Amino acid sequence: MKRCAISECINDAMDTDFCNEHSLALEAIEEKYHGWKKAYGEAFSFEQYLTSLTTTPKVGKNILDVVTLLLEQLGEKSLN
Ligand SMILES: [Zn+2]
Repeated sequence: MKRCAISECINDAMDTDFCNEHSLALEAIEEKYHGWKKAYGEAFSFEQYLTSLTTTPKVGKNILDVVTLLLEQLGEKSLN
């Protein structure tokens, strides 16, 4: 069975690349993004949003794990 995409997470992955807990974190991240877009406007990019989350207090550990991974993936993409 495949492991969760978060390297330090020891849980098995589900249908997504993440385990149950980190899948829930990803869902929460995507859900919240819609609210932030409403507040900051359509030009507010997903990457800006993720970067803002890393400096927002009280963001959960699971959320930060996923945010860090997504930012890494976005960084890799823009290098190509
Ligand atoms: Zn996980």
